[in-house]
Order: sequence, then structure tokens, then C-alpha cells
Amino acid sequence: MSMENGRPWRATSYEMAKPLPKKVREGRICKYSPLEWFFPEKGLKPIGKELCQICPVVVDCLEFALDNEELFGVWGGYTKNERRKERQNRRNRTIAN
Ligand code: SF4
Repeated sequence: MSMENGRPWRATSYEMAKPLPKKVREGRICKYSPLEWFFPEKGLKPIGKELCQICPVVVDCLEFALDNEELFGVWGGYTKNERRKERQNRRNRTIAN
């Protein structure tokens, strides 16, 4: 497990995608939060979402996850299903305009 950028619990995404933007890397408040808050066992609530509500980089975090099509966990207060819906909504709005 990588500890690079202090983000061991997102090592897979981090290593496969772009590095986190500096603003998110430095401003995130989940740096030392338990992994399972953002990547819960199946059927458990991702309580990390509540932390996202007060995170100063929530918008940048979500945009990073959407841009990189992050498949797992909570990013910017959105679960993977919520991100998939958001991407679809944005595509629909683009088509409608
Ligand atoms: S929005 Fe949530 S997942 Fe993203 S950096 Fe902040 S606390 Fe972490």
C-alpha cells in the first residue's frame, strides 16, 4: 500500500490515474480518516460522506473524481452510483443545450 501524498487508502486510484490536484491534496480533511469511512463493506453506510460536507475542497475533489471516472469509494461527497448519475445528468444537459 502506497503512502505517497498521505493517501494510502486511495492508492489504487492514485496510481492508476492522475495525481490528486495540489489543492485537494493539501486541503482535504479526510487525510487521516479510516479507510472504511469512504470504502465501506457492502451494505454499510459510507459515513465519510458527512465529512465531505464540511471539506473545503469538496468541489475540486468531486470534479477530479468525475474527470477521472473514479469507480470506487466516496469522492466529493458522492458515492460511485451518485457520480455515475451526475455524469449522466451532465451529458444530458450538454446534449440538450
Ligand atoms: S470532499 Fe470528501 S473525499 Fe474529497 S477530499 Fe474532502 S473529505 Fe476527502
